[in-house]
Amino acid sequence: MPPDAEIDAFAEAGRLLFARPFVFVKGCVRIADLPEMDKVEIAFAGRSNVGKSSLINALTGTSNLARTSNTPGRTQELNIFESAGEPLRIVDMPGYGFAQAPKPKVEAWTRLIHQYLTGRATLRRVYVLVDGRHGPRGNDLSVMNELDKAAVSYQVVLTKADKPSPTDLRKAIAATTAAVAKRPAAHPTIIVTSSERGDGIAELRAEIARLLAH
Ligand code: GDP
Repeated sequence: MPPDAEIDAFAEAGRLLFARPFVFVKGCVRIADLPEMDKVEIAFAGRSNVGKSSLINALTGTSNLARTSNTPGRTQELNIFESAGEPLRIVDMPGYGFAQAPKPKVEAWTRLIHQYLTGRATLRRVYVLVDGRHGPRGNDLSVMNELDKAAVSYQVVLTKADKPSPTDLRKAIAATTAAVAKRPAAHPTIIVTSSERGDGIAELRAEIARLLAH
């Protein structure tokens, strides 16, 4: 297929993939709670408040799907979303960077994440959400370190791209591109999104459709 036709084909496949509704399946606090490894999984990770729920809602074309995962009690779980008949499972990971959380909770969360990232054969890619106003910070870099160590493929998605000025957004993109450049498990391309304006959503859907095809 010529390159342009291939891009169009994945854009259409991405649109179709998310044309049918995704629903909340369950929240998992233990690895044993996870569904069978019968679908390709993509996971979304990011600091609390980075815009993860909004992005999952925009991706799936719903207004409140991922709100479930932002309700108290669900924030420390791996929240699972699926669409009937689709070979894709979305895993919403707990937001990190909540300094106020009690230590045992943070430890349990860290253990769950570590087990999930290192032991899940069906996990195809982690989308690491980073605030588009400034690019990656301490916690974001720690997560990337862990993903590199676990050799789990990941790609950075900048969020809230409508907020910074064009100059600041360009700086954030440059800083992010530099931050992933030498990382072994990172996808070199950054996806720039705004859930508010819809920027980058079609591109993200196409990228996920491409993952499923390979
Ligand atoms: P989460 O904690 O990572 O799930 O973040 P949320 O999706 O709940 O978003 C946190 C805050 O950022 C909310 O007030 C959202 O309205 C806001 N927000 C999320 N995405 C965008 C975006 O693309 N643009 C703008 N301007 N605000 C956003």
